[in-house]
Amino acid sequence: MSRQSNGICNVCGSDDVKKLFSNKDYTVSNELFDILTCNNCAFTWTHNPPNSEEIGKYYISEDYISHSDVNDSFRDKIYHFARWFMLNRKCKLVDKYSKAKQGLMIDIGCGTGYFLNAMQQRGWETLGFEPSADARRVAKMNFNIDVLPSNELLNFTKKVDVVTMWHVLEHIHDLSGYLNKIKDMLNESGLFVVAVPNISSYDANLYKSEWAAIDAPRHLWHFNTSSISQLLDKHGFCIEEYYRMPLDAFYVSMLSQKNISHKINWFKVLKDGIIGLMKSITNKDASSSLIYLIRKKGTV
Ligand SMILES: [Zn+2]
Repeated sequence: MSRQSNGICNVCGSDDVKKLFSNKDYTVSNELFDILTCNNCAFTWTHNPPNSEEIGKYYISEDYISHSDVNDSFRDKIYHFARWFMLNRKCKLVDKYSKAKQGLMIDIGCGTGYFLNAMQQRGWETLGFEPSADARRVAKMNFNIDVLPSNELLNFTKKVDVVTMWHVLEHIHDLSGYLNKIKDMLNESGLFVVAVPNISSYDANLYKSEWAAIDAPRHLWHFNTSSISQLLDKHGFCIEEYYRMPLDAFYVSMLSQKNISHKINWFKVLKDGIIGLMKSITNKDASSSLIYLIRKKGTV
C-alpha cells in the first residue's frame, strides 16, 4: 500500500476515481502532485507519492516546523501558542474518554514529546514512537520521555490503554498495517484518538488546491468524516465522537496565503479564521481539522 499508482480507492476498492486538482509542494521540492478522490466513498489521496524510503528528503526544510522548537518568527510564535492552547484540550479529551483513568498510553508520531510529557504529569505511563532521531533526542533531553523509532511499532507487543495520533495518520504509508497493529495492541476498552485535517472544511473549500493542509507529498491521505469513518469501520473501529480544532483554520489560512503570494495578509488570516471558526460552531464538519475519539467495534 505504499503507492497509489493504480488509481484504486484504498477504502472501498472502487476504480471510479477522479483527479481533484494538482497540489504544489511549496515547502521543499516545488514538485506537483495530483490529488485523486473516489467518487464512491469520497476518500481522497495523493497520487503516486514518494515511497517510505524516498519521502524523508521531503521533510527536510526550515519551514517544516512540526518537530521543531525554533521560536524565532511571528509565524512560529503563533504555532507554539496554538500548540500550548491545544495541549490542555487534548489532555482533557483523553482523560474524559479513556475508560482507564491511568495506564499505558502511546503517542505515534510524538515529535518532541510535549503531549506525552503533559499526560505523564497527569499520572499516565507513556511511550512515544517517532521517525525523527532529532525529535526523539529532544524528547529525552527535555522531558526524559522514552521514544522509539516508528519502525519498531509493528514489533511492539504490550497491550495499551490509549493510542494517540495527532496529525500523523495522514503521513502514514502503511495505513492498513498501522490500523491493524493498533487494533491488536489496544485493550478491549481502549481509546484510539486521531486528529487529521478535514478536506471538507470551510477553509479547504476556500483555498482548494492551495489549501496548506493538502501538503503533498507529506500528506498521503486527505480525510473527511465520511471517508475516515469508512476506513476505520473496515479495520474494526468505530467513531464514538468527534471534536473541532478551532485554531487550525487561522494557522492553515496563514500558511495557504504564504503558499499563494509568499506574504501573509493578517487581515485575511483573521477574517478566514473567524468565518471558519463560526461555521464550525454550527457544523463540526466545516472545521479545518477534527479530533476523532475511536473505539474497537462492539465496545462503545
Ligand atoms: Zn472509495
